[in-house]
Amino acid sequence: SGSSNKPLKIAVIPGDGIGTEVMPYGVRCLEAAAKTFGLELSFQTFDFASCDFYDRLGDMLPPDWKETLAGFDAIYFGAVGMPDRVPDDVSLWGSLLKFRREFDQYINLRPCRLLAGVKCPLAGRKPGDIDFWIVRENTEGEYSSIGGKIFEGTDRETVVQETVMTRTGVDRVLKYAFDLAQSRPRRKLTSATKSNGISITMPYWDARVREMAKGYPDVAVDKYHIDILTAHFVQRPDMFDVVVGSNLFGDILSDLGPACTGTIGIAPSGNINPTGAFPSLFEPVHGSAPDIAGKGVANPVGMIWAGQMLLQHFGFQDAADAVLGAIETVLARGDAAVITADMGGKGTTKSLGEAIESEILAAKK
Ligand code: ATP
Ligand code: MG
Repeated sequence: SGSSNKPLKIAVIPGDGIGTEVMPYGVRCLEAAAKTFGLELSFQTFDFASCDFYDRLGDMLPPDWKETLAGFDAIYFGAVGMPDRVPDDVSLWGSLLKFRREFDQYINLRPCRLLAGVKCPLAGRKPGDIDFWIVRENTEGEYSSIGGKIFEGTDRETVVQETVMTRTGVDRVLKYAFDLAQSRPRRKLTSATKSNGISITMPYWDARVREMAKGYPDVAVDKYHIDILTAHFVQRPDMFDVVVGSNLFGDILSDLGPACTGTIGIAPSGNINPTGAFPSLFEPVHGSAPDIAGKGVANPVGMIWAGQMLLQHFGFQDAADAVLGAIETVLARGDAAVITADMGGKGTTKSLGEAIESEILAAKK
C-alpha cells in the first residue's frame, strides 16, 4: 500500500488495436505522477494477451503466464480482441477472463463521475451532480455455468440456468462496497435487488446487506429493485454514492452509469482482488475499437483514468487526485486542437495524452 517504500511493480499489457495506442500515454501519465509525487513505480511490458501473439504462438498467453504475472502488484491492461482475425470468445476467454478468474478479481469497480468539459447525455446535469462508484460482484451469481437443456427438439424443450450465491462470495463484495462507502464523505450505499420477483437468491442478497450493515452504523443504506434503479440512474443520478450489485445487475449498471457521464473513450474500470493475494487489473472500459485503430485518434482518457484508479487503489491519493485533476483541467479547457474526435475535437491520442501529462508534471506536490 501507499505507506510502503518498495516500488510498486506494474505489468503493462497493451493488447490489441487502440490498446496499443493509448497505453504509452497511460504509462507516461503514471510516470509523470511518480515524478511529481516521488513514488517508485516499475513497469514491465508484455506482448501476450494480443491477437499478434496468438497469430505467432497459437494461444493468447504463454504457458507460464500465471507465475509471471503473479509477481506483480497490478496489471495495467489496454484492450484485447480483433474479431476479424480471432473470434472474441477465443481472445477474451483466453486472456482477460482468465486473469479475472485465476487471480480471483472478485470486484469490478467503476467510477461514474461527470467531468467538466464532457457533454452529459442527461439534460441539465452539471459536474458535481454525478459522482458515485459502482461495485459489481465479478465471480458468481447469475453468471454460473450450472444448468442445462432437456427434452431438446420437442415441444417440451426446457432450458435452466442457475444463479449461485455463496455467503463468502456475497459478503466479500458487500464488505468492499461498505468499506468504500465508509471512506467517502456521504457514506451512502445503495444495493441493487429484485427480491419481489426473484424469490430465493435476491432475498438472500438483501439479508446479507442487512447483516453487513450492522457493522457499519454510520453508512446509510438503501435498496432499489433493478428496474426502478436503472430509471433513477438516468433521472436522479445525484442520489448515489456507492452502488453495489450482483454480477448481472452490476454488469448492467456499470455500463449504464458511465454512459450517463459521456463517451466510452473516457471511462475506466478496475478488476480487483482486495486481498492482494493476486494482482488487480486496471483497464479502460472501451475495447480495441478496430474501426479507428491505427489512426492515432483514440481518446487516451479511459486508459489514463484507469491508471488513476490504480494509484488510488494502492493509497497514493495525492497522486491519484492530481491525475484526475489533470484530466479535468484539460477536458474543461476544451481546446478543439487538443481533444479527440469522440469529444468533438480535432486532436489526436498524442495531443490529448501529452496535454494531460504536462498538467500532471505541473501539479503541486
Ligand atoms: P467490446 O469492448 O465489448 O469488445 P466493442 O469492441 O464493440 O466492444 P469498442 O472497441 O469499445 O467496443 O468500440 C465501440 C465504439 O466506440 C467504436 O465505434 C469505437 O471506435 C468507439 N471507441 C471506443 N473506444 C474509443 C476511444 N478510446 N476513443 C474514441 N472512440 C472510441
Ligand atoms: Mg471489441
